[in-house]
Amino acid sequence: MKFERSKRLNQLPPYLFAEIDRLKTAVKAKGVDIISFGIGDPDLPTPKSIIDVLKKESEIDANHKYPSYEGLLKFRESVAKWYKKRFGVELDPDREVLSLIGSKEGIGHIPLAFINPGDAVLVPDPGYPVYRAGTIFAGGTPYIMPLKEENGFLPDFSLIPGDILKKAKLMFLNYPNNPTSARADRHFFNEAVKFAKDNGIIIAHDFAYSEVYTGEKGNDSFLSAHGAKDVGIEFHSLSKTFNMTGFRIGFAVGNENVISALGAVKTNLDSGVFQAIQLAGAFGLDNELKAVRENNLIYKKRRDILTRGLEKLGYKVYKSDSTFYVWTRVPKEGTSSKDFAMSLLNETGIVVTPGSGFGENGEGYIRFSLTINEDRIKEALIRMGL
Ligand SMILES: *Cc1c(COP(=O)(O)O)cnc(C)c1O
Repeated sequence: MKFERSKRLNQLPPYLFAEIDRLKTAVKAKGVDIISFGIGDPDLPTPKSIIDVLKKESEIDANHKYPSYEGLLKFRESVAKWYKKRFGVELDPDREVLSLIGSKEGIGHIPLAFINPGDAVLVPDPGYPVYRAGTIFAGGTPYIMPLKEENGFLPDFSLIPGDILKKAKLMFLNYPNNPTSARADRHFFNEAVKFAKDNGIIIAHDFAYSEVYTGEKGNDSFLSAHGAKDVGIEFHSLSKTFNMTGFRIGFAVGNENVISALGAVKTNLDSGVFQAIQLAGAFGLDNELKAVRENNLIYKKRRDILTRGLEKLGYKVYKSDSTFYVWTRVPKEGTSSKDFAMSLLNETGIVVTPGSGFGENGEGYIRFSLTINEDRIKEALIRMGL
């Protein structure tokens, strides 16, 4: 029997990587050794000390029960302590911190807490596809904020028309940014807070790459902007920070009314994060900043090798020292990012992500993920003609 899918599911943009996935399978079947820069999943290991805590805690009966929906107090306290130490931001672990089953879960669910049919959600483009999907699932209308290179891949709020502003209730931001690797500073966040206050908009800042940087200076928190807690929340993930993508743990922090509404959605849909994982995550936040620094040194070496090589090959690389992505123009004028990615894969067995997969404003760019080792990066550059 064939069942009609819901309108909301059919409304999602098509999955742009399907064709590339098929080609990858075909190239692999020919016996080609694929080098993939496509995956946004760290290849580096989860710190052993975190896994040891998980092992120990998973033996304890009390951790086998349903967790409390807002997360263990111990986890929320560790988040608050880490936030104070890392960003100088005070958080009340009882009312301003919520554990998530990965930040993707919270990002996908936040529109359900605030968006009615007809409401607009301001979504950066290129961007993480979940902002758009979560908006559509909640019956809202995504309004695209183009991120342009000449503007440092920051949105220009003055371009949003008045009729959209009247309908807009929520704005997603994401810095350091996936896929462009761009950073935002305190000045931009101050401007965003003012804009949100003037227009009655909630800001949901996706800070998944907060600890991933290859320069000297750490990334700024949205919540450290003046008055940010009045208008928004910040999503975090332990996935990229501690190489824990498979564990599924993240958290949301900030405005207590927004946090409690997101919590209310979640109580009705899920039952929280396995407590042993929360305790392992809390241990990481309490102790593992050294591992984070070591990972960043590895990403820095990889970034330097790849950027230098690509530039020698004539690529125009966007200069950034945040995230583990390298974002560059398609080197062939007039070739779409998808066609370029397909022919690169066909000719060299190298996988990159076409910018158009992140939205129409990603066209003309491709993304390399620095989640493979130096030898593989060098091998890829040789195959590309270096
Ligand atoms: C990886 C990623 C996430 C999701 O991380 P999880 O916590 O594993 O769900 C969220 N936002 C962006 C931009 C990401 O790249």
